[in-house]
Amino acid sequence: MVAILNSKMIHTKDTHEFWDHNCKDSGPTLTKRGEPCNWCDEEEESQDVWREDCGYNHYFPHEFIWESKYYDGSDERWREVGIPHSVLTRINSTSEGKYGWHFNIIRDQKVAVISFEKEDDALWFSLTENKEKHT
Ligand SMILES: [Zn+2]
Repeated sequence: MVAILNSKMIHTKDTHEFWDHNCKDSGPTLTKRGEPCNWCDEEEESQDVWREDCGYNHYFPHEFIWESKYYDGSDERWREVGIPHSVLTRINSTSEGKYGWHFNIIRDQKVAVISFEKEDDALWFSLTENKEKHT
């Protein structure tokens, strides 16, 4: 069971039954204890600690489009576009500046965007990473 809540609601909610995480696929979510996240399958114990001011829904000037795909508004289509966990943890541990990622809907496309504070990080990333490596 997953409830998607804004951060204000999380504070007022009894969290004994739930664990919350800032999901890479859908933003802040509450998941029932003992169950993995409905969206990204992350387990409670394996939560990553993203750097301060980095991570989901943080925006920086140097953008890299990871993937874009047809999106019809359904959950199934939404889940088809995402950024692999391994890529995000690598950025988290290697980039010099801040970084973030977000999803955009542009007309009928869902777009996964990774952005960097420093141009060098963005350049390095574009040279060493691409989606094909992960499919
Ligand atoms: Zn998740």
